[in-house]
Amino acid sequence: MTEPQITLFGPDFPFAYDDWLAHPDGIGSVPTEAHGTEVAIIGSGISGLVCAYELMRMGLKPVVYESGQFGGRLRSQPFEGADGVIAELGGMRFPLSSQCFWSYAEKLGLEAQDFPNPLTKAAGSTVIDIEGQSYYAETAADLPQIFQEVMRAWDDALEEGANFSALKAAIRAKDPKRVREIWEPITRAWDERSFYDFLTTSEAFANLSFHHREVFGQVGFGTGGWDSDFPNSMLEILRVNATEQDDDQRYIVGGVEQLPQGLWRRSPEKMAHWPVGTSLSSLHGGATKAGVSRIFRGVGDRLAVTDQWGRMRSYDAVIATCQSWLLTTAIETEENLIGAKLWQALDRTRYMQSSKTFVMVDRPFWKDKDPKTGRDTMSMTLTDRLTRGTYLFDNGPDKPGVICLSYSWMTDANKMLPLPVEKRVELALSALSKIYPNIDIASHIIGDPITINWEADDNFLGAFKGALPGHYRYNWRMFSHFMQSGLPPEERGLFLAGDGVSWTPAWAEGAVQTGLNAVWGVMTQFGGRCAPSNPGPGDVWAERAPVDLDA
Ligand SMILES: Cc1cc2nc3c(=O)[nH]c(=O)nc-3n(C[C@H](O)[C@H](O)[C@H](O)COP(=O)(O)OP(=O)(O)OC[C@H]3O[C@@H](n4cnc5c(N)ncnc54)[C@H](O)[C@@H]3O)c2cc1C
Repeated sequence: MTEPQITLFGPDFPFAYDDWLAHPDGIGSVPTEAHGTEVAIIGSGISGLVCAYELMRMGLKPVVYESGQFGGRLRSQPFEGADGVIAELGGMRFPLSSQCFWSYAEKLGLEAQDFPNPLTKAAGSTVIDIEGQSYYAETAADLPQIFQEVMRAWDDALEEGANFSALKAAIRAKDPKRVREIWEPITRAWDERSFYDFLTTSEAFANLSFHHREVFGQVGFGTGGWDSDFPNSMLEILRVNATEQDDDQRYIVGGVEQLPQGLWRRSPEKMAHWPVGTSLSSLHGGATKAGVSRIFRGVGDRLAVTDQWGRMRSYDAVIATCQSWLLTTAIETEENLIGAKLWQALDRTRYMQSSKTFVMVDRPFWKDKDPKTGRDTMSMTLTDRLTRGTYLFDNGPDKPGVICLSYSWMTDANKMLPLPVEKRVELALSALSKIYPNIDIASHIIGDPITINWEADDNFLGAFKGALPGHYRYNWRMFSHFMQSGLPPEERGLFLAGDGVSWTPAWAEGAVQTGLNAVWGVMTQFGGRCAPSNPGPGDVWAERAPVDLDA
């Protein structure tokens, strides 16, 4: 018998969002008097669109506002002059454990393939280049001894410091009590300690050299480049590992932006109130509203939302899915809509920087075999040089290929921040030429390169949250805010959702799950409820709420 799939079942809030979504009785309903009532949603990223789609299915009328590009951080930018050849600027690899994400992708019939991560079959081959030394491998077993030692040490450290097999077994079994039993002491022990601290104090790594930690920082687990996360809270790393966010990843053929675009255009088969054929696009007359510039408590206690052109509309409920800093920098948000402690959490959110640079090439030339060695000409590459991660995308024999020359985070991304795209490409090619002295990558480039730094875009101000040691309480305040019955009346009606509110930032599944929390909150505010056969996140909150460290 095959084991059940690991999902993003907690570990902080062990609730099976995927089962809730898939249940034949649906996720809930609102009374008929509420049908057609408008709910404002700030942001057309995956979180906002999941909110909009599910609220429309309940018969409410979502009104989506967007200040930048539709789809948010699920952005697939086409190369000029090529048909359907894209660069994934934000999310690009989606683990099988992101079950809610995949349920929407399946609904839309999107095709997926294994992502060419380091040391996977999909990559074919991998080159790890560290301290000027390059290692070629098709599987992890081809790497020198030190890499095996590092991998073993990581597994041992997880077992020793986080009771890992037991935690994963409880997550796999979707056993909320057992998950809590294991995760609560880990939360208390590790909230205020960093990933690097975990490594250096583990027995498994203590007996190994400093260079082992350097190797680990470069190759990490799954996707590589984990030294950028060394200062982060260890809890964040454990969540990613325990819920297999970094394993078995797939990409969406043709670009992940098809997911937000598809939800916008899709007419659900079962919907309350709205006539057959209704979609988010048809409810909006084909376009989102403009960006939001102000939210305040208006007439009759309703929330007044003003867009950038000065048009004001009032709502009983508003869901904000934009990065939380934007609630102070881009939107004039009335201060007493949010309690002081939550404001503090929102403002203390720490975003990670991220940069990517892509080129389109005439063909997947990297698959040509070197006649002398029989190896691929070029491989998926992890290096301590400035490119950090280079990914190769084969779009098939009759389409140009794509190379993500460089994918980097934090200070490595900052190196690119002020530079124009041509300079970024030049630097990346120069770094790669040291690893592949006999390949002229530039001779294969066609069209214009594409690049991004998310922190340079005023619709985001950063790529994604990366919680620091001591941030658990801030996370707790943000994540639990959808449970509004205990809030003072002036703080009710504005719901927060999205990547930055989630326990697993940088993974689209967290953005979806927090969107579903907001859906539950709005539904409840309108007097709605879940079917008794299918309780929602708020219905099980009392017994499963994430541990409150201040209680
Ligand atoms: C570089 C990078 C790599 C990533 N890699 C992965 C990955 O491989 N796998 C994975 O699962 N996840 C990945 N992620 C994370 C994933 O992309 C996010 O979790 C998800 O897309 C966030 O969705 P969201 O709806 O919460 O936020 P967003 O997509 O940011 O949506 C919020 C929207 O709000 C809009 N907005 C901002 N201000 C206003 C305003 N004033 N008025 C109206 N609208 C406003 C923004 O323009 C934006 O469109 C990655 C993210 C980045 C940046």
